[in-house]
Amino acid sequence: MPVQSNKAHCSFCGQEQEADLPLIAGEEGHICEECVRLASQVVASWGRKRAATRPLKNLLRPVELKERLDHYVIGQDLAKETLAVAVYNHYKRLSMESDSPRMQSASDEVEVEKSNVLLLGPSGTGKTLLASTLARIVGVPFVIADATTLTQAGYVGEDVETILSRLLDAAEGNRDLAEWGIVYIDEIDKLARAGESAHGTRDVSGEGVQQALLKMVEGARIKLSGKGQKEQGGGQLIDTQNILFIAGGAFAGLEKLLEKRLGGRARGIGFQADFADTSNAYEACKIFEEVEPDDLRHFGLIPEFIGRFPVITALHQLDEQSLVKILTEPRNALVRQYQRLFEFEGVELHFTDAALLAIARQAIDRGTGARGLRGVLEGLLRKTMFELPSKENVATCEINEAVVNEGVTMKLS
Ligand code: ADP
Repeated sequence: MPVQSNKAHCSFCGQEQEADLPLIAGEEGHICEECVRLASQVVASWGRKRAATRPLKNLLRPVELKERLDHYVIGQDLAKETLAVAVYNHYKRLSMESDSPRMQSASDEVEVEKSNVLLLGPSGTGKTLLASTLARIVGVPFVIADATTLTQAGYVGEDVETILSRLLDAAEGNRDLAEWGIVYIDEIDKLARAGESAHGTRDVSGEGVQQALLKMVEGARIKLSGKGQKEQGGGQLIDTQNILFIAGGAFAGLEKLLEKRLGGRARGIGFQADFADTSNAYEACKIFEEVEPDDLRHFGLIPEFIGRFPVITALHQLDEQSLVKILTEPRNALVRQYQRLFEFEGVELHFTDAALLAIARQAIDRGTGARGLRGVLEGLLRKTMFELPSKENVATCEINEAVVNEGVTMKLS
């Protein structure tokens, strides 16, 4: 016992009460200010850990994950299933490790590597939507980074490290939660160096960024400089070991490499010879399902980088029918959103089936996938939305094919 005198002392650290060291008295003991502070920090860290493990408690199984995705994302079943399995395995592994951390160190334990995912598919087909929806379903923080704005450390632009700062912000400063987040890196194909078949100068800047990303994607403890952070605490270490990275890109031109490799076999399994034919864009994208890591190397990604994305899956171009579904079916479908806006004015907005199909066709002509749908609808409804609030006695507004294709004024009644 360190305390011999009759003076009151802190029951935790043994510090004696002094004039400048008051103690808080409990029923049977005392506690000093320093121990109160320490205990408070410990308890706060419990809270953080509990909040961070919450997403792992009710982890949905792959089939359930896909069902939930179906509410928001149309089609893309292959990508949905692949992602559902990858995300389930990733968080299952984390929950097993957090339940019995000692198991990790057992030398005979099989180490399950994390399954970062690479999504291949044209612009506007749902790559970002899939990643963000998954993060929301699982309940983990999520950030989107654009590979084209990233630079090697020291260059002007966004550093790889700022991605982690933003993830910490998305987790409201909770580092434990941030360390289980999902990072989506868009336009990853733009980091490819000039491919083997391409001519011209070799572009090494993209390769440099690939190198800079390697460490983070694989799993490392990275020190944040503190810039771009809402919370205090620059200089925090973030462990990226458990962060799931999903990278996406259009990989334009990759189909040519695949066509070359697959040769006659591609045609044999139903692909057309001319993949560049836009009328056959759907088939052209299906060939992405055949991608192997070696094709990506030929495309210009470095082997180390490809190796860190063991799961590769493809999204295909959306056809007219899919676009019509996107307009009407998801929880926050565009048509529903506009109908709601019109409802605020007491007007029922109605689209005929032919009108929806015509809108889908116009979006396809724009060549930006589902992203074009909003533009087409905005163009159609802008004037009406401008005038409607000043009009009286309008109860319904109908949009038919002629309104979409020929610019005929829509019927208000
Ligand atoms: P990208 O493949 O370029 O990442 P996004 O996921 O950003 O495309 O899609 C752009 C927008 O188009 C989304 O916000 C969404 O509204 C719509 N969209 C794209 N694909 C789908 C899809 N398969 N299902 C539902 N909406 C989609």
